[in-house]
Amino acid sequence: MTRRVRIVIIGAGMAGIAAAHTFRQAGFTDFTVVEKGSDVGGVWHWNRYPGLTCDVPSQIYQFGFAPNPAWSHLWATGPDIQRYHREIVDRFGLAAHLRLNTEITAARYQDGSWLLTTSGGDTMTADFVVCATGVLHHPFIPDIPGMDRFAGPVVHTARWDPDIQTSGKRVAVIGTGSTGVQVVSALQPEAAAVLHFARSPQWILWAPMWLRQPRALTTALRRWPALHAFTFDRLQWMSNILADVVTTPSWRRRAVQAYARLSLRAQIRDPHLRATLTPDYQPLCKRQVVSGSYYRAITRPNALLVSDPITEMTPTGVRTADGAHHEVDVVVLATGFHAHNYMRPMSIVGRDGITLDEAWVKGPRAYRMTAIPGFPNLFTVLGPNSPTGSIPLQYSAETTARYIVAWLTRFRDGEITEVEVTEEATEEFNAAVADAIGPTVWNTGCNSWYLTEAGTIDLWPFDRATLTRMLAEPDPGHYRVS
Ligand code: NAP
Repeated sequence: MTRRVRIVIIGAGMAGIAAAHTFRQAGFTDFTVVEKGSDVGGVWHWNRYPGLTCDVPSQIYQFGFAPNPAWSHLWATGPDIQRYHREIVDRFGLAAHLRLNTEITAARYQDGSWLLTTSGGDTMTADFVVCATGVLHHPFIPDIPGMDRFAGPVVHTARWDPDIQTSGKRVAVIGTGSTGVQVVSALQPEAAAVLHFARSPQWILWAPMWLRQPRALTTALRRWPALHAFTFDRLQWMSNILADVVTTPSWRRRAVQAYARLSLRAQIRDPHLRATLTPDYQPLCKRQVVSGSYYRAITRPNALLVSDPITEMTPTGVRTADGAHHEVDVVVLATGFHAHNYMRPMSIVGRDGITLDEAWVKGPRAYRMTAIPGFPNLFTVLGPNSPTGSIPLQYSAETTARYIVAWLTRFRDGEITEVEVTEEATEEFNAAVADAIGPTVWNTGCNSWYLTEAGTIDLWPFDRATLTRMLAEPDPGHYRVS
């Protein structure tokens, strides 16, 4: 005799889509994917800034269950990736499970099930909650004095307003991460002036991101799915090399770092500008920026690199610490995200009334990226420690979803009614993470969004084989079940 399993997946981004498809494939059909946005896609829905391109090659940045032979570019654009997500949702019959424009504001575990409340006041009940709420979601807006007095538009890249005019305007771009670099490259050709406020420069690896996927390759991948599967598999395997580079100090890491230095040296001839663009930390310490156009853009006559810190905004521009006032018409905040919020600010109350804020008072923490002590029958997909910097996120999401299926199956088969990871197993996992972080390049002394307020590094410090092994099947000794 099997039992019905009511599942709510929160978030219809890449992690939510991976979970929904995996559950369906495993025979679980009683699930709803609740999404506060008006479309699926997560970051690829929210981010629509000019120049948005994925700096991970397209043939690796895709779901294992939905390889796409026909990417237009070797590095896909944001709109292409968003179309891919929509197409998958339709093709795999997930659209009927979607509830868009619906934000879950609270989830409470009581009497053996989860009661969820939406911002509209509706309630939903679930046996299992799967939080696929993303990592880089809540925009970080810096507290710059006078920002509210600036007369022109101020826009964060993750909430881009398509009505903003940048062509022929003087545009300030604040922030030098992957986003700032892409926006500067995209706006520079049409703007009257682009002023890039680069408080801390980043290393930028050169790559020809404008290249189209060759037609012959598309034809071959279409015609021979086995070849496509083989290519995908090899590319996935190659990500091991990157994992090795970032986690283990070796000549391989030094070689990639030398390439980053060469990318700067070969493209920026002016010694003063080169010095200004040289970071004071090792390449790869922050999330690596990749671009084939930024250095060219920043040396154009209408581009200016401003390295002095910003002190204030005035109605007509931006003032820096050296006293200079830079007149601009538009301010673009490429200032990143609150990267450790995960499912907050949702109010989540687990067993015995414990809140997620209480459980995470010292920062986000989970067991193997997916389970949290105190919160039975709740899992995360791409939860704490899931940013990998090397392993494709789709792989992590699909593997985690399959792991969760093991518990859904036991619930459906009547073997369990409740499952909760133990505090001891979570401690042990986090101690292993702390040990493994030691020799990583992320721990070589830079300030990045990888760092939590508690000073820990919220990343996956192991290789792909370890991820696969840890999530192959649940270890019963690590859980309390009833
Ligand atoms: P980010 O890497 O966190 O960079 C934020 C930038 O804003 C930093 O340069 C930071 O400077 C600057 N900043 C913040 N407050 C400031 C202030 N008051 N004054 C001056 N500068 C200020 O954010 P992001 O560029 O949005 O990228 C976040 C992540 O998104 C990336 O690392 C990547 O994982 C992902 N992403 C991926 C792609 C892709 O192609 N796959 C594209 C875009 C983004 P400091 O460093 O000095 O703090």
